[in-house]
Amino acid sequence: MIEKCPACLGSKSGKPVFTRTGELNRCARCGSLWRSEGPVYSDYGMSYFSNRGHLGEKASVRAAKIKSFRGFWKRASVPPSSKALEIGCATGWGLVAGRELGMQMHGLDVAAESDRLAMERGFPPGTVVQHLEQLETLRFPVVGFFDALEHIPEPEQFLEKLKHYLAPEACLIVVLPRADSLSRYCLGSMWPHFLPDHWLHFSARGFEIFAGRCGFDLAKTFFPLKWVTPFTLFRHLSLHSGIELAAPSFPIFPFNIGECGYVLRWRRPVGTLCCNPVEG
Ligand SMILES: [Zn+2]
Repeated sequence: MIEKCPACLGSKSGKPVFTRTGELNRCARCGSLWRSEGPVYSDYGMSYFSNRGHLGEKASVRAAKIKSFRGFWKRASVPPSSKALEIGCATGWGLVAGRELGMQMHGLDVAAESDRLAMERGFPPGTVVQHLEQLETLRFPVVGFFDALEHIPEPEQFLEKLKHYLAPEACLIVVLPRADSLSRYCLGSMWPHFLPDHWLHFSARGFEIFAGRCGFDLAKTFFPLKWVTPFTLFRHLSLHSGIELAAPSFPIFPFNIGECGYVLRWRRPVGTLCCNPVEG
């Protein structure tokens, strides 16, 4: 059981938050929300992607996804040809967006199919790995977590391991739902980010404390726009309601429902040697 707030290590308040997918603890200090039992979902794979309309068979859906990811990657102040790693790269459209910007893309995903999907998008085999250790000597000046951190079972330990694969002063671009967003307060238990696969929701304050504890400085926050089509929105609504809904895959329009974006800068401990020079 996870008793302390995973964001700030504060205590839980006496009042849990009730959602459609179970009860969440609320941190008395920072307002982050988490499930006591930790992650309860691990079925990531092709059905997970297709149920959410993420495969992008429709050109407009694909274009919308790439447009969103391009906007996220552009938040990194790095040379265009930099190596970049996307954590939770899923169906590969974030990799495509980074490639369009000139970046040298790599991905990590728990889904075994992600590497094959990346190959379908024109990337060489091995572009997507399932474990950080498979990145071997690669060092990244930029890493993206787009709707990924709230799925990771032990985010603090994960970031610690990730540091072995970061270039000095690497930047992390993180997009995730915000526990203290206006939409969360307005929608209550109907907030769409209350899902079985999301076990942790950071508040803005909780995220900043968490990043600092993990050795990262908050460089800036931003308001991430996700470009979506009615098709994508209705796929998610169908998933929530259990009712099959159909919708057209156009037009594309910008959308944000409680998501926040953060750019973090790694505070590499002074005197630490980087074992691999950075290229690009
Ligand atoms: Zn907290």
